[in-house]
Amino acid sequence: MRKFVPFVFAFCIYLRESQSVGLVGKTVVFGAASESPRYVKFLNEGFSELTALTLCMRFASEDQREYSPFSYNTPAHDNELSLWYKVEDGHGVLSIYFHKDFAQFTVPLVTSMMKHVCLSWESSTGVVTFWLGGERTLQKVAHQGGHVQGGGTMLVGEDQDSVEGDFEPSQRFVGEMSEVNLWDHVLSANDIKAYSEGCHSPGGDIVDWNTVIHVVEDPASMVTIKNNPDCVI
Ligand code: CA
Repeated sequence: MRKFVPFVFAFCIYLRESQSVGLVGKTVVFGAASESPRYVKFLNEGFSELTALTLCMRFASEDQREYSPFSYNTPAHDNELSLWYKVEDGHGVLSIYFHKDFAQFTVPLVTSMMKHVCLSWESSTGVVTFWLGGERTLQKVAHQGGHVQGGGTMLVGEDQDSVEGDFEPSQRFVGEMSEVNLWDHVLSANDIKAYSEGCHSPGGDIVDWNTVIHVVEDPASMVTIKNNPDCVI
């Protein structure tokens, strides 16, 4: 047994060195699809469950196909909280999944232009609203009375079909993404509008882009973290 101790020790060191802290002023470019999954995993603040949330991010992609910009799975549930984009009849469709519950919205096509996208939901009413560039969609209802379970794995760049596994290359996000933040409450309309117009917005209390501990899984070197030119004053 003794010979295994150095190996275990080295493995622990490796895990720690793979972690980075904070992405303030940074943007992530996910290169074209490769054989290997590549993603950024957020080691978010722990939560037991969410009964309300606001998820915001900026992203752009030239791919007109289905992909997942944000994927959160728990051991019990695939798509415990998952953002989904697809194209239908020449327009875009953005969906939020709460395991098997979902709400989908017809939106303009996602293009090469960076867009600020937010999603808010609260369990008590089930009201779901998307915000694109600070303007909201109509309201829909999903997962009323439900919750989002804690203890899962949250990542961007791939769609998990199991916890950090079973990635399908055809559902990979290829494009640029920044300012991913997740709050445990519904932000006000004024806050969402302000964050859509500015840079360095206050971070979320579950995921804070400015300080989030993250791991870049990128065996084929398809992920590049760059300075965010939008944030240069
Ligand atoms: Ca999938």
